[in-house]
Amino acid sequence: MSKTATDITVKTVAALMIGGSRKLWLEADDLLNKAIKEKGPTSQVGFPETAFYLPLANALLGLETNTLSDAKKILSSAMALLAELPADENKWETFLKDALSSGVAAILAEELICALRYLYGSEPQSDCPGFLPDTLLRSLGIQLVDGRISGIAVILGRAKDEKAAVDIVRDLQKRNILTLVGGNVDGVSIVDQLKDGGLHTGLESYVIPFGRDTVSIVYVLNFAIRAALTFGGIKAGNTKACVDYVRQRVPAFVLLLGGVDEVKAATGAGALAAGVPIITDLDLPEVRVPGVCAHEECLVKEFDHKKIVQKAVEARGIKIKITHIPIPVPCSAAFEGERVRKEDTHVQFGGKYSPAFEYLKMRKMDEIEDGKIDVIGPEIDLMQEASSAPLGIIIEVAGRKMAQDYEPILERQIHKFLNYAMGIFHMGQRDMNWMRISKDAKKAGFKIKHFGDLLAAKFHDEYGAIVDKVQIRLVTDEDEVKRLLPEARKAYAARDERLRGMTDESVDTFYSCTLCQSFAPDHVCVVSPERLGLCGAYSWLDAKAAHEITPTGGNQPIKKGNVVDIAKGIWQGINTFVHNESHQRVSQMSIYSLIDSPMTSCGCFECIVAIVPEANGVMIVNREYAGETPAGMKFTTLANMVGGGNQTPGFLGVGRLYIVSKKFISAEGGLKRIVWMPKELKEALGEKLKKRCEEALLADLLEKIADETVATESIELVKYLEKVKHPALSMPPLM
Ligand code: SF4
Repeated sequence: MSKTATDITVKTVAALMIGGSRKLWLEADDLLNKAIKEKGPTSQVGFPETAFYLPLANALLGLETNTLSDAKKILSSAMALLAELPADENKWETFLKDALSSGVAAILAEELICALRYLYGSEPQSDCPGFLPDTLLRSLGIQLVDGRISGIAVILGRAKDEKAAVDIVRDLQKRNILTLVGGNVDGVSIVDQLKDGGLHTGLESYVIPFGRDTVSIVYVLNFAIRAALTFGGIKAGNTKACVDYVRQRVPAFVLLLGGVDEVKAATGAGALAAGVPIITDLDLPEVRVPGVCAHEECLVKEFDHKKIVQKAVEARGIKIKITHIPIPVPCSAAFEGERVRKEDTHVQFGGKYSPAFEYLKMRKMDEIEDGKIDVIGPEIDLMQEASSAPLGIIIEVAGRKMAQDYEPILERQIHKFLNYAMGIFHMGQRDMNWMRISKDAKKAGFKIKHFGDLLAAKFHDEYGAIVDKVQIRLVTDEDEVKRLLPEARKAYAARDERLRGMTDESVDTFYSCTLCQSFAPDHVCVVSPERLGLCGAYSWLDAKAAHEITPTGGNQPIKKGNVVDIAKGIWQGINTFVHNESHQRVSQMSIYSLIDSPMTSCGCFECIVAIVPEANGVMIVNREYAGETPAGMKFTTLANMVGGGNQTPGFLGVGRLYIVSKKFISAEGGLKRIVWMPKELKEALGEKLKKRCEEALLADLLEKIADETVATESIELVKYLEKVKHPALSMPPLM
């Protein structure tokens, strides 16, 4: 039973810490002996996807544990750390050293218990990811370095009720603090409180459940200690340096909520020994001793759940970059991956529901007024629940260092910035955007004008180096949206035109784009002069300029390196880069092939190219086309299959302009393979497609490509292709 009584003394806590450590050691010893008996001493033991064996044992003891017999060494070292139960005194100074040493034994034992659970297949638990792999450490480490994550909170136990649990986590999210939750008090776990309270957990929300028992907190501790080995370059076994690294450089803290028992106390001692302070809502005796954690606060209490996060931030000394944005909903990168479902939507703009666009334009310094935000047309109060409305977002920026080349890069940030607001969803770009404002955001007082407040603040905050002034018009009047749209489209076309004439052969460097990793964490777009990003917003020139503005951002130069297969567009340098940035999910990426290791797709593609085996060719469907296709699937079904950062041979998400590139699936024969596309896509590509057909000496191809007026299923399609003698039918087999 957990202790919550107010009469807990220093001695009681120390006794719990040391007693709990002994209990954990015995449990690990029992489980290990059982495993050796049942599986044999040479059976392998360890965690998936790590180079650090059992990481705590590796970092703190220098042990490389591969087998059950190796694991015996962990327990013999841990035994030497176990202290005797405390004598009859009541001061921390007397007990602290012994408690911390026993705590180290406790977390070593817990790590072994979890590894044995893996051996028996009882981990990971269904809705908790279990051991956190090295690749995750790398990507989160980068976010810690660049400030996207300001700290790491570990919540152990349970809050007083679901609402308090959700409020605490929301408070942490607002501060960009990565939150790991787990444990329970008398069978009630914070994991379930959050679930029941409707809070979405997952990496994209910065909230990860680690397990419902205390022992599994070790996944967080052995995650933190690997930072010392990975980023600190510290040698395994250098205990002091490892602990110093975590204490100084990993801004982590534990929130111990709802109750304490001896296993929790022992684990807490282990966390303290690793330099991680504890903030609790329990009436425990505080520990304020210099040299254990980064500051003297080691164990501090705060009973008010509304203040506990602030207390923790202060105790750990976390620096949070707070930019006050005057909107009535929370706003931070933690909300970036949040979706607003149809039934939760108050009003939506764009998509296939209403005309909408977003356009950013550079102006001279004296042409605009900084901070001016105009709403032209009805405000949200005049928009009915579950309705659609037109919206034009026109952003004018000026700055001494601003250049026209930067316009599309800044424009693309609209997607990221709007998604920062809780209850706002944004997808797409240019005149193919789609936004939703949730009912909750509306209830909180969110207005159309707040789009402007948010965007102006974020452009100043993140692009202050080039942007001095921002003026925004938000147009909800349909006639005005339609009047302004041609000017925006003219600018989009002019940007695309700038790329003409450049070829992939004329450069030795392509660019990456990983902006969409907020939704598809393993997705990498490789942008070349002849293949733009699949959302259609990033050309090679755009990616290059984006890299110049933000050298450490999502657009990085990639040297092509040695050729692996020139016809398929495979280079060693691209493969190595994509392998790293896809978190080892993709080892080879072809730039010109649909079949052999094609590029991954996130979800932002303008069109999907899909193989039609019966026709020995491909069909292309654009996002706006809602009808049936000869692939037997509508765009939405295809999109679910293709997206998510996966390589799907035979299917490809692409930007429209890639269709008229000479490199369009050139490994499979290019343009001649296109057998079907919707009429509106054919018309939108218009002159460009006609010109490409002529260049490829296929002047009559355009008429031979079927559309929905001719066929929407494959048998009809093949009949038509035979009738018009489509060249795909006489090409080598696609598969
Ligand atoms: S689709 Fe590709 S190019 Fe476009 S924003 Fe996403 S990652 Fe970047």
